[in-house]
Amino acid sequence: VRAVAPPDRSSAPSALRADSFKGAGDFGPRVERAAVAALKAALVAQLPEGGLRDDPATLAAFGHDESNTLFAFPETTAQVQAIVRACMAHGVPVTPVGARSGKSGGSLPVRGGLSLCLEKLDHILLVDDQNLIAVAQAGVVLGALHAAVEAKGLFYAPDPNSLDWCTLGGNVAENAGGPRALKYGVTRDHVIGLEWVLPSGEAIRLGRRVHKGVTGYDLLGLFVGSEGTLGVATEVTVKLLPLPKVVLTALVLFQQVEQAAQASTRLLQSQLLPRCLELLDDVALAAVKGAGLQLPQASQAVLLIELDGPTEDSVLAEAQTLEAVCRAEGALEVRVARDETQRAGLWAVRKSVSGALKLFEGRKVSEDVVVPRARLGEAIARFKALGAAARLTVATYGHAGDGNLHTNVLYSKAEQKPEVDALVAAIAREAVALGGTLTGEHGIGVAKRHLLTLEQGPGLIAVQKSVKAALDPLGLFNPGKIFP
Ligand SMILES: Cc1cc2nc3c(=O)[nH]c(=O)nc-3n(C[C@H](O)[C@H](O)[C@H](O)COP(=O)(O)OP(=O)(O)OC[C@H]3O[C@@H](n4cnc5c(N)ncnc54)[C@H](O)[C@@H]3O)c2cc1C
Repeated sequence: VRAVAPPDRSSAPSALRADSFKGAGDFGPRVERAAVAALKAALVAQLPEGGLRDDPATLAAFGHDESNTLFAFPETTAQVQAIVRACMAHGVPVTPVGARSGKSGGSLPVRGGLSLCLEKLDHILLVDDQNLIAVAQAGVVLGALHAAVEAKGLFYAPDPNSLDWCTLGGNVAENAGGPRALKYGVTRDHVIGLEWVLPSGEAIRLGRRVHKGVTGYDLLGLFVGSEGTLGVATEVTVKLLPLPKVVLTALVLFQQVEQAAQASTRLLQSQLLPRCLELLDDVALAAVKGAGLQLPQASQAVLLIELDGPTEDSVLAEAQTLEAVCRAEGALEVRVARDETQRAGLWAVRKSVSGALKLFEGRKVSEDVVVPRARLGEAIARFKALGAAARLTVATYGHAGDGNLHTNVLYSKAEQKPEVDALVAAIAREAVALGGTLTGEHGIGVAKRHLLTLEQGPGLIAVQKSVKAALDPLGLFNPGKIFP
């Protein structure tokens, strides 16, 4: 099976540039232009025609105007190895790049050097309906993998809202989640094997092609979520589930966001485990106004809830509990999608929130904190209060069931950036104080590395740095990420 063609990447938000993260500190010296030139000369014969680029169009498409950046597009694992080895030999930083949909600046070559673009490793190699596994190259677009496994009545659960263009390798690097993580878990819960090119250039296979196994250290657990700093995934083996037979999608309208948050907590307390439980507050709803959602004026928050199960009866019984719990928390209305078109329409609105918020005041910084589920309402209220004190608009939406809130700070003028950064730090501090964590799925990258010490102590950071140093002694693999 060959993956469908990925979407036109020129529309990807390549606006994530190193200068967006000025608050994140000094990234270290940029690579010397001469080193990049020497690397180019060494690699050009080893890659296919067009496999090595530094022309203005590529630089512009990738959001860079730096001339000491090279872009390599390998088509095989052997080419990835050759590139990594050449980078190490020439002392040039190398940064893995998927579809550039990441939200923490992970694929930005902050010290220049070579961007290792995996998009041509785009073959789905196996969908095995007897052993319930799939094997795909790292540049496969996630939506293509979903289509291929669903065509066989199977299910790959992770579903970041960027699934139409993000890559499996990027999902592995960020341990991506998504709405269905509530019931099914995140990427790490589904990846059972990897082909991995280490910073030394050696390719190793780890994990297995069976659903269960505990041989040796859990390096899969380490590499999944390593944000492109410990090597590069070239091939990924995932486990599959049977495709759920019945899916019911409901939109529940509330007058106030506090009611929606409280209903979300109560739903999980009432023995229900929806596969998705998403929240949109008043600002998020205002941003997507006109996107196809007709809401009464009184409705200032919604929950988008999805149930799945083996039979209609079982799902309908859960839907009744869902309605009763939401009504008890003051729901104005419970709407159920009648068909696939209505269901797709609801998700299209949900998926448009991030982009719509960016346009709302012109600029935004997207947060990704997680708070304990029982403190969701309290957290949203505190974040809004912090925003009000800073005279900045705070929008909140996201994976409420997981306590994972995309708290967005909106602003209009570049001069406001210092206040925005201060507010983002205050929100992060508050989330940690509430018993939560800095990032639920977007990773630390460059965006949050200056905040890492809010959550992790020096001992823990030192252990992680020693792992990094053991695998990447030259410190050239995606430098400037994660650690302050
Ligand atoms: C509209 C929108 C919605 C989103 N929704 C979600 C969501 O619901 N859940 C969620 O988790 N995320 C979400 N994201 C964030 C993003 O899509 C994910 O982090 C995704 O996993 C990134 O994949 P990518 O291919 O775009 O990787 P990139 O952005 O290109 O890279 C991300 C990181 O992965 C590294 N990397 C890329 N490929 C490899 C590889 N093969 N081997 C090793 N390292 C690699 C890079 O160096 C970088 O550090 C969303 C983003 C957008 C724009």
